[in-house]
Amino acid sequence: MTEPLSARTPATPLRPSACPGLLRIVPALDGGICRIKLPGGVITAAQAFAVAEAAERFAGGVIEATNRGNLQIRGIAADHDGLIATLLDAGLGPKNPASDDVRNLMLSPAVGIDPLQLFDARPLAAQMLHSLETHPRFHELSPKFALSLDAGEGLAMLEHPHDLWLSALNVNGETLLGFGLAGCPATESPLAAVTLEEGHALVVAVLELFLEHARPEQTRMRHLLQEMSAARLLERLAERLQLPLRHDQKITAWRRAPALPNAHIGLYPQRQSGLISVGGAVPLGRLSPSMLRSAATLSVELGDGSLAMTPWQSLMLRNVAHDQCASALEGLCGAGLLCDPGQALSQLIACTGSFGCGKGLSETKAGALQLADYLQEQGVSPAVHLSGCSRSCAAAHVAPITLLAVSAGRYDLYFRHADQPGFGELRGRDLTIEAVGALLTADSRSNTDD
Ligand code: SF4
Repeated sequence: MTEPLSARTPATPLRPSACPGLLRIVPALDGGICRIKLPGGVITAAQAFAVAEAAERFAGGVIEATNRGNLQIRGIAADHDGLIATLLDAGLGPKNPASDDVRNLMLSPAVGIDPLQLFDARPLAAQMLHSLETHPRFHELSPKFALSLDAGEGLAMLEHPHDLWLSALNVNGETLLGFGLAGCPATESPLAAVTLEEGHALVVAVLELFLEHARPEQTRMRHLLQEMSAARLLERLAERLQLPLRHDQKITAWRRAPALPNAHIGLYPQRQSGLISVGGAVPLGRLSPSMLRSAATLSVELGDGSLAMTPWQSLMLRNVAHDQCASALEGLCGAGLLCDPGQALSQLIACTGSFGCGKGLSETKAGALQLADYLQEQGVSPAVHLSGCSRSCAAAHVAPITLLAVSAGRYDLYFRHADQPGFGELRGRDLTIEAVGALLTADSRSNTDD
């Protein structure tokens, strides 16, 4: 007999937050939003079927792939309990209901199978997630407090800022875990490093120290660092861990090699001989239930029975036999995924926009479709982010090109620039999508002409 929902939800009320969770459905203009956090971005085929069913039965059938490798259902009608029960029955809830918000650990979608990885991060990731879920004090962390673990994979999101990031590096033949606070390995060097064996203790100690020193309003690591220097925090950390943190120049000057661009789209090799991963971008981050079911079915027939959701709002079939990769690619394309990075739409991201969000100044997804058509005709495919307001929900990092809505159908155009804060250098004001398309086409051609 199915356990009643009340027995599986926390006895104390969920803390208020604007962030959706599996147990906290937040309202939007187009209905409720439920966010399903996936450990390492992985969902089994059976769970994907349950999400598709829940989106159809209890909502308007819109499933979103998020930029943290999670899924969310939007447009949810009145029966929240029915939707939550369907997802819990599929095993998509947290081990401890109070920990739903804090399961924020970013991994490579190719964790454990990437040819370039320096170690298999899955066991350490499992320890970290276990601690987040079972350590009661950690449930006080903000739903936005997030960690990343990078084992040196070629397929890695390195640009998203994290409260604590860890990156594998090789020093004199030894693999260490460098780490940094309130930043990301794409632009920063580690503050210090520990051995792989010390990695889990390090994470626990950083989180405990944060909770001990941060005032309630200091919800993110960057807030604490405004009052307590990183050097002081490192001292405290070394005392707590009772080991010297390694911060010689080889570590503090180390820089992470860039990840492979667009490696999540199409075929990606695996370290396991005879196997390959196959990925496709989710158009503007939105899946229909039938798309999700088709991808899940392919994973059962050709892969390992699971889907890896990526931080680029795409999904991957993993452990596909080499002689099946053409069928897998064809199947994903047939399901509506974008499996060629030359498809202009595969390079565009857009937030919900004014159709579903009260803060939006323009219908960003409609604008993105219009822009993709224009760029496809011109044969160019730049990476562009359309944002309905300055909150930048669709991109946790600054995209190479940003269109910031200023009114319905009109945008300011920015190009990312290392010396300019925010979205970068302002290159055009109050532009229509056609005007943006013409400018981006000219820019792409000037960058590729000899
Ligand atoms: S970026 Fe602004 S308009 Fe877009 S979803 Fe976020 S809050 Fe809404």
